[in-house]
Amino acid sequence: MDMAKRVSIMDLQKQPKKASMANVRVVVRLRPYMHKEDQKKQGPCVRGLDSQSLEIINWRNQLETMQYQFDAFYGEDSTQKEVYTGSIQPILTHLLNGQNASVFAYGPTGAGKTHTMLGSPEQPGVIPRAVLALFRMTQAESSSRNYEQCDISISMSYLEIYQEKVLDLLEPKNQDLPIREDKEKNIFIPNLTQKTISSFADFERHFIPANQNRTVACTKLNDRSSRSHAVLLVKVQKTEQFSPFRQLTGKLYLIDLAGSEDNRRTGNQGIRLKESGAINSSLFVLSKVVDALNQGLPRIPYRDSKLTRLLQDSLGGSAHSIMITNIAPEHRYYFDTLTALNFAARSKQVINRPFTRETIQTAALAPLKRPREEMETSSGTIALTMKKLKTELEDESPEAKETPLSPLLKQEYQDHVIADRLVQLNKMFLKKNSKGIPLLSTPKRERQALLKVLEENQQEIQELKKRQKELEEKTLAAEALLQKSRNQPELLAASDIENTFKVGRQVVSSSGQRKQAIVFPLQVCNRMENNQEEGIPLLKINRQKKDTVEGSEEELGWDINMRVDLLEKGRQKILGVLNSGSLKELKCLHMIGDKKAKLIIGWREVNGPCAKVEDLQKIGGFSEKFIASFLKANILTNIAS
Ligand code: ADP
Ligand code: MG
Repeated sequence: MDMAKRVSIMDLQKQPKKASMANVRVVVRLRPYMHKEDQKKQGPCVRGLDSQSLEIINWRNQLETMQYQFDAFYGEDSTQKEVYTGSIQPILTHLLNGQNASVFAYGPTGAGKTHTMLGSPEQPGVIPRAVLALFRMTQAESSSRNYEQCDISISMSYLEIYQEKVLDLLEPKNQDLPIREDKEKNIFIPNLTQKTISSFADFERHFIPANQNRTVACTKLNDRSSRSHAVLLVKVQKTEQFSPFRQLTGKLYLIDLAGSEDNRRTGNQGIRLKESGAINSSLFVLSKVVDALNQGLPRIPYRDSKLTRLLQDSLGGSAHSIMITNIAPEHRYYFDTLTALNFAARSKQVINRPFTRETIQTAALAPLKRPREEMETSSGTIALTMKKLKTELEDESPEAKETPLSPLLKQEYQDHVIADRLVQLNKMFLKKNSKGIPLLSTPKRERQALLKVLEENQQEIQELKKRQKELEEKTLAAEALLQKSRNQPELLAASDIENTFKVGRQVVSSSGQRKQAIVFPLQVCNRMENNQEEGIPLLKINRQKKDTVEGSEEELGWDINMRVDLLEKGRQKILGVLNSGSLKELKCLHMIGDKKAKLIIGWREVNGPCAKVEDLQKIGGFSEKFIASFLKANILTNIAS
């Protein structure tokens, strides 16, 4: 990765902390490269700076980076244990005090959400570690002085939200369950299976087959798991044994969210529209909820999706929440990484108000049940997980842990040197117009970066040349058409329009010699009443006398006469492509090549959709004049097609 100048700093940690208020803790975890060749081919596009911040290449200028700061950053060398002890363990104690907690993993498919949450037998993740720790905590609490006075019970539910339907993974017959809210504003799902568990082995007895339910569905439906949200709910209930029989309930949500990648952009043809639409809408509402909370809006759209309805307690509600944003180092993840980081940055500003859930039990209490930690195991996998967890939990001395720094971080000094050199080289490169650059004497990485820029520039020049040639041809065709119109000056045929619509408005001297091509913004004429039914946009010849130094000259040009509704429709269609079109679709627009399409995608990732086509101006390199020509060319194409 060639990161040079650091330009924008997003310090998202400036929220004041008030008593009984807790920010959503947002941590980011960067997974290592999956294939060493990828790393060799192209360095990472994102890297850690310290234990809280990271930087990512700026898509507008590869020589710059954007920095983000979070509650914690876990680099590619981070272990499961570090993530758990650093970020998850501290919130678990709240559960025994009747408060809610939630952990959710966010990020594109393949970035490590399931690895972080579930892990593998060799590297158990947050879920097994948190559940085991809860049993240990309740055991410790039970053996303390309060034991005689309290009954502690733990129960679990496991569900999946797939295509906006809640599916019970502990009882797969239960499909499409409703989500309700009780008088105390607790969110619950009637008929969702809830199993009381008295040990970690008990937990695994229910959890492992339930996960297999998920896996079976996943193979049938072509990796459905990346498009569904898996929610494990662990409830800890503490009930006093004497009047007034106070009951404290703490809920822990452990959520492996669906992949946040934009399937339109990745052009994932295999994904059915309905599926990706449902996921996108759920995650889209999640981001709307976060925005509404940040802006302190009176209405938070929790009810707009099943996911946010369920997370109502966990976002801006009463929970201690941790969002783990998983990201990948490969360049092909770049825009998904950027989206995930921006979402994470916005979530960082959400403030939760944790409170204790206490109810008074009037009815007689259930017999006292003392949770026992039975460590018996039922399969090899479980045995391995347990063994690993036990040994890890046993040697948990804080001083034994030293957060390893990212290897890239160690190169920081060199990077500054490289940064300065790159900036200088770039300047020189632009000045000398790619000739005579002492490329060979520069280190390999810098050379590669420069060669890449050079290649991109050359490609763009080629594209521009091609486009210019096309325009020249169109201009010649237009002139021929004008010649023809001298004989028939009224209206041009629709077929002629198709052949000429890209030229825009030509100004031709009376001698027939082309003077210049001037692009005017589209002009809507209301002289179309008679042609309304036909719905064909018409070009009309304009004849105007113009005084020149040489004398009087006739200017020929044409106005575009078309129905206002057609014009608006065309605009909306273009806007639609700009806001949600894939790279390929964007490149199908006139005047949009690879580079411009990428600029648009990058811009909308950061700023959201454009309200109107003219908003393109906010992106550098899109002038007012360009947009006028762009609109003209594309609206006419739309209508003609
Ligand atoms: P997601 O759930 O986000 O789609 P996964 O958790 O399935 O992604 O991760 C994709 C692949 O990357 C898996 O093979 C996983 O084992 C591996 N992986 C993810 N994160 C890490 C990590 N921190 N260390 C090692 N391997 C990882
Ligand atoms: Mg996954």
